[in-house]
Amino acid sequence: MMRSPELEKMPRAELEKLQIERLQEKVKDVYEKVPFYRRAFKEKEVTPDDIQTPADLKKLPFTIKLDFRDNYPYGLLAVPPEEIVRIHSSSGTTGKPIIAPYTQGDVDTWAEIMARTLATSGVTREDVLQNAYGYGLFTGGLGFHYGAELLGASVVPTSGGNTKRQILLIQDLGATVITCTPSYALILAETALDMGVDLRETRLRLGVLGAEPWSEQMRQDIEERLGIIAINIYGLTEIIGPGVSVECPHKCGMHIAEDHFLVELIDPQTEEPVPYGQEGELVITTLTKEAQPVIRFRTRDIVSLNPEPCECGRTMTRMSRVTGRSDDMLIVRGVNVFPSQIESVLLEVEGVEPHYLIVVDRKHAFKSDELEVWVEVSEDVFSDEMQKMEALEKKLRSEMDSVLGISARIKLVEPKTIARTEGKAKRVVDRSEL
Ligand code: ADP
Ligand code: ZN
Repeated sequence: MMRSPELEKMPRAELEKLQIERLQEKVKDVYEKVPFYRRAFKEKEVTPDDIQTPADLKKLPFTIKLDFRDNYPYGLLAVPPEEIVRIHSSSGTTGKPIIAPYTQGDVDTWAEIMARTLATSGVTREDVLQNAYGYGLFTGGLGFHYGAELLGASVVPTSGGNTKRQILLIQDLGATVITCTPSYALILAETALDMGVDLRETRLRLGVLGAEPWSEQMRQDIEERLGIIAINIYGLTEIIGPGVSVECPHKCGMHIAEDHFLVELIDPQTEEPVPYGQEGELVITTLTKEAQPVIRFRTRDIVSLNPEPCECGRTMTRMSRVTGRSDDMLIVRGVNVFPSQIESVLLEVEGVEPHYLIVVDRKHAFKSDELEVWVEVSEDVFSDEMQKMEALEKKLRSEMDSVLGISARIKLVEPKTIARTEGKAKRVVDRSEL
């Protein structure tokens, strides 16, 4: 098996040695083979020889999402095109999509990383793993598929959607692990109930969920409704897809695969390093990617880092939940707030379903005086007398105010009226889209 547990538990000093060796090699690689990087290095007056210690990383230029767009599709390749065996892409809702090309070596490394990732989350070769991440251009489907097969689990490649059939398959094939977005896990539970099936009574025991921000409250909700342990997993197309980091069963931050990904945390405004424990923007350098290595990619994801060894024995740095993407941040009367913070407040309140929509006025670049939040109420509250609804609304308003310091208009809506999506949930909408 490819798990290489010794790597995950290697002393930090040894890990850092491995990282710097791999970094030096990669930096040389992109400098020689990718004109974009050569130019960027020249602008910063840095050459591969300047990279001798981990601290030298700071000398290198950042890469941003726009660089991928500007060089679309093949401008960032570090190998001849015939070396490419697969190409994925991210959704690209704003302008040109971003592509992720893989060599055979990349596909193999990714499968190894994902096998290890799934093992960390608690999956074993005895498991029947139903993979409800979308198959296709999205990295989720195939990323999980290859990793789970390499680990030796029995993979059921359902992809997203066709929810009723998913429920039948969970029952018939005795799935023990479900992999999908957190929001789709809730749709599975809801659909199952409509069919008269209680997922808690199936063999499902574990969910490896990610690809979108979700709160601790959402985790509790999912665990209760599906009768599973829900584990958080993180990744992104520009870097590799799923497999950048994952929680172990201790659920105390996601272990980063630091033998493949070198991370930094910066203040998104000043670009200065942020100390451990504090929040900042995650910056990732790939150490082993062949087709499209990335130097100092600014993810825009806001997290904090914890380098302390974990109870599980792994020495790999842990990252916190992603509060949100820096570009998802809302500014309400001067107060910065992420959709997932609103989610955690909502879900603390009894009588509320984990389905909500945040309505903003995008014309004003997320800065708004008025924040409106639509929340589904549970069936019993909804069928109760008006007074109860009013009390609930008031409670939500005051919780938002006292916890987040923002006043919001709360609109309670009937159960099952907010649109469900099979992949990533859309939490923030512009008023004009309604
Ligand atoms: P797109 O940009 O089209 O959404 P990706 O699938 O590459 O395409 O999305 C990666 C992004 O998804 C990450 O940068 C991060 O913002 C978000 N994401 C992925 N996993 C998680 C997670 N576990 N928690 C929060 N956000 C996540
Ligand atoms: Zn751990």
